[in-house]
Amino acid sequence: MIRRLIKKVFGKASASARAGDPRILQLDAHGIQREQIHPCALKTTRALNAAGYSAFVVGGAVRDLLLGREPKDFDVATNATPEEVRQVFRRSRLIGRRFQIVHVYCGADTIEVTTFRAAAADKDAEREAEEGDDSRVTAADGMLLRDNVFGSQAEDAERRDFTVNALYYDPEKQEIWEWHGGVEDAKSKVLRIIGDPIQRFREDPVRMLRAARFAAKLDFHIDPATRAPIADLAPMLGRIPSSRLFDEMMKLLLSGHAERGVRQLRAEGLHHGILPMLDAILDNTERQKFLHAALHDTDERVRQGHSASPAFMLACLLWFDMRAEWRRNQANGQSDQTALYDAMDAVLERQRDALAFPRRFDGTIKEIWSLQSRFEQRNGARPFRLLSHPRFRAGYDFLLIRVKGGDAEAELTDWWRRFPDASDSEREAMLIKPQPGEAKSKRRKRGPRKPSGEAVIETKIG
Ligand code: ATP
Ligand code: MG
Repeated sequence: MIRRLIKKVFGKASASARAGDPRILQLDAHGIQREQIHPCALKTTRALNAAGYSAFVVGGAVRDLLLGREPKDFDVATNATPEEVRQVFRRSRLIGRRFQIVHVYCGADTIEVTTFRAAAADKDAEREAEEGDDSRVTAADGMLLRDNVFGSQAEDAERRDFTVNALYYDPEKQEIWEWHGGVEDAKSKVLRIIGDPIQRFREDPVRMLRAARFAAKLDFHIDPATRAPIADLAPMLGRIPSSRLFDEMMKLLLSGHAERGVRQLRAEGLHHGILPMLDAILDNTERQKFLHAALHDTDERVRQGHSASPAFMLACLLWFDMRAEWRRNQANGQSDQTALYDAMDAVLERQRDALAFPRRFDGTIKEIWSLQSRFEQRNGARPFRLLSHPRFRAGYDFLLIRVKGGDAEAELTDWWRRFPDASDSEREAMLIKPQPGEAKSKRRKRGPRKPSGEAVIETKIG
């Protein structure tokens, strides 16, 4: 009661006093020069400064620069409200309902500007919630449902997840402001949550996944106190909307550090909610080898600056499930084609219950899968038709991974590597003429088949 009264009277001041003062590091202590800041971010902080507001580059960009890495994007944090930010930049837009941010545009570039905000799922917030002030609401178990109140810079730092993510860089003065020892932690490669680990993970269980992702991406180790409660709290991920889990999973898988990320997830016992198929994959040598090849390949691709697609990744993760189902359907007497399509639908539907991945990927996933058997058909007009298939490349890349994972013959990818560039006569010579006797005996075993079927899901897979 008294605490609440004090808070009402002194407002933000009491909270920031509680958080202490920042440590301010000069250029010689951190080495980040303003020239390393994206020109659009620089323009943004300067314009805000000129209008009388404080403005910092914040979050991942400062962390990555400090570690000598190239930042993915530059975010700016300021004490100006979204409306005030809007007034400073002619080319800007208010985004978001839950917590408004402003996009500032320079040419093709966008900088995200957020207003300092406060969000502690403390007892005060819970009581305020009970009394009908719904600007800060927590669920009974401490989960933060909203965090849309503006705050001081100190409060803003306190509500961020890890110490290395709570660094503020002032490009004008070339200073880093920190409240939670992030610079030191960056130097010693420690991922440490800000505040009480149990409380912070309860507020937002996704932070546990972020811990695994950042540890993998930055090659940090998770501070023991931060790590300790994760195993117990992991089931809380079950309460997170599956669309958010899906996004988080994709961030991890397409980060360029998926191999380490997946290992980290499993080590922390975090994969049940986000990659439920992982146990089945990792408990089986054949599947494990394939997944390893898939993750390794995707990481390489991302690191070389190429894109990696969620559909491709999902096709990899679910391949063995689909194949097993396909075989079962065939064993139950379905024709190859029906067996395949039923299996694809069944596996995707099952995953949707667990992960809610968007249907828009289904088409591509199915194409990648169903192309696999077509790579085996190297007679007549079929290879030519396959070559002009819009997903030929993705299908071929998938086949390469199957070869690396020991799930298909290297001879097959060698053939397909040569075929597209071969001359007409070379191609003619490459075509593989089926032995009539062979084909017949296979058919007899499998029973009748529609003559027009997109033919032969080959025995190798089927
Ligand atoms: P990346 O390089 O992967 O983008 P990032 O640190 O920029 O890393 P973002 O997800 O872009 O990560 O978030 C930007 C910043 O917002 C973080 O650095 C962190 O300070 C804060 N943040 C994001 N998500 C959370 C969360 N769930 N809880 C607390 N703070 C968060
Ligand atoms: Mg970011």
